[in-house]
Amino acid sequence: GSVQTPSEETIFRSKLPDIAISSHLPLHDYCFEHIAEFADRPCLIDGATGAIHTYAEVDRTSRRAAAGLRRLGVRQGDVIMNLLRNSPEFVYAFLGASLLGAVATTANPFYTPAEIHKQATAAGARLIVTEACAVEKVREFAAERGITVVTIDVRSEGFVHFSDLLADSDESELPEVEIHPDDVVALPYSSGTTGLPKGVMLTHRSLATSVAQQVDGENPNLYFHKDDVILCVLPLFHIYSLNSVLLCGLRVGAAILIMKKFDMVAMMELVQRFRVTIAPFVPPIVVEIAKSPLVDAYDLSSIRIVMSGAAPMGKDIQDAFRAKIPNAFLGQGYGMTEAGPVLSMCLAFAKEPFAVKSGSCGTVVRNAELKIVDPDTGASLGRNKPGEICIRGEQIMKGYLNDPEATKNTIDKEGWLHTGDIGFVDDDDEIFIVDRLKEIIKYKGFQVPPAELEALLITHPSIADAAVVPMKDELAGEVPVAFVVRTKDSEITEDEIKKYVSQQVIFYKRIGKVFFTDAIPKAPSGKILRKDLRAKLAA
Ligand code: AMP
Repeated sequence: GSVQTPSEETIFRSKLPDIAISSHLPLHDYCFEHIAEFADRPCLIDGATGAIHTYAEVDRTSRRAAAGLRRLGVRQGDVIMNLLRNSPEFVYAFLGASLLGAVATTANPFYTPAEIHKQATAAGARLIVTEACAVEKVREFAAERGITVVTIDVRSEGFVHFSDLLADSDESELPEVEIHPDDVVALPYSSGTTGLPKGVMLTHRSLATSVAQQVDGENPNLYFHKDDVILCVLPLFHIYSLNSVLLCGLRVGAAILIMKKFDMVAMMELVQRFRVTIAPFVPPIVVEIAKSPLVDAYDLSSIRIVMSGAAPMGKDIQDAFRAKIPNAFLGQGYGMTEAGPVLSMCLAFAKEPFAVKSGSCGTVVRNAELKIVDPDTGASLGRNKPGEICIRGEQIMKGYLNDPEATKNTIDKEGWLHTGDIGFVDDDDEIFIVDRLKEIIKYKGFQVPPAELEALLITHPSIADAAVVPMKDELAGEVPVAFVVRTKDSEITEDEIKKYVSQQVIFYKRIGKVFFTDAIPKAPSGKILRKDLRAKLAA
């Protein structure tokens, strides 16, 4: 194909003007920049206990957490692991790390020991903050590696309890640290467009910019504000909730209602009791609400915005949900961990030209550039033509930790991040995602990297080769299924393979189905031809 010069490129920008962003501030200072305006207002509401912590308290407790972490040996640049479900302690540990110029890598506490060890080792974590469900999974590993473990619930021999870490600390002990905006503050893991999970280096600047793109500026009606009560039920270990719920909520001074786990009845009760105004969800929750008769028993009239992201949401679901809760604005956001994560969002209450069509992922955020490229030629495409979505701006990741090769394959020389998603921009600047170029499978919004399951499958002595691809699923969106080539004379069964995998991975990475085959289709380079397998499945 022909090479286009940058001047020939079609670049999409927000119709809203760019804003000035305080991205020079360290993330905690940026989030609390306006704290004086809401110091005595509720910041965190613990859904489990109903306890309310004000902004002033959360600020103070985070500083004490920082002092406590420092006393346990955490220094600037060190990595701690938040191996936690949603809890106030997650917030204190995260902000505490930021205050020290340290980095928080976040992970699901229901991971298997092997999954936890892999991430903790790759990230170089020297301290893990966790809870009862994961305590025994980290004990041996932590002892071997000299990793300090802090628990937030159970007291456990040899481990520090979070309440003691706070009680023994004084925020005045905090050392002066000089934090550069390009220092890493968060290190979530994502497999990106290909391969195994990698550490995504998000800096103070990238996260502050991303939050600003969502909630800052002159048009407060479009975004969150300090009278909002934001439901935090999506896991904070995923960047969607960490950024678009927690950090955005803190920045505007809203109350953040923390739920440890998803439970429809408990959630409806909390929405009613605390008059929740913003409900960030993933598609399966939207579906469940649309279908559940239970929901009708509750007063949900306080909800003004429902957001959905992390996976595609079809027009049908969207329409069903709108019929069920007509007073709430329902819009999708489109994010990718590497992009900071938000690329585009629907603007609530927006009038023309920002009205939102069903199926749309909204419009590109401010202070950013988006383009659609032909995946084969790299040429930029105009409106209504599907191609790979690329984004550029200060919000995107600095790169993958210790992986310059993968970084180079994702962020090109001109600074464009290639998402691996196929979509187009319509005449109203709305973005529609239509397909995925990359191999990642999304189970209810959770990442399932095929490469990880393939690597696991071929360690089995009865398996000669394997490939994992997504299969459509009504409930989960997608589930991983495996094509397996048995070794000569092997009679291994589908159930044996499923069991082998399920013992070693978290529930959502379990293989839904096994198809036995003679050979895995591959390109001369050895790359699995996933498209062929997906086509085989569809047939
Ligand atoms: P993650 O890094 O886990 O947030 O996954 C990012 C990927 O999830 C994106 O690159 C998309 O493939 C998918 N995704 C996120 N939001 C949406 C959305 N609103 N519609 C369709 N796919 C989405």
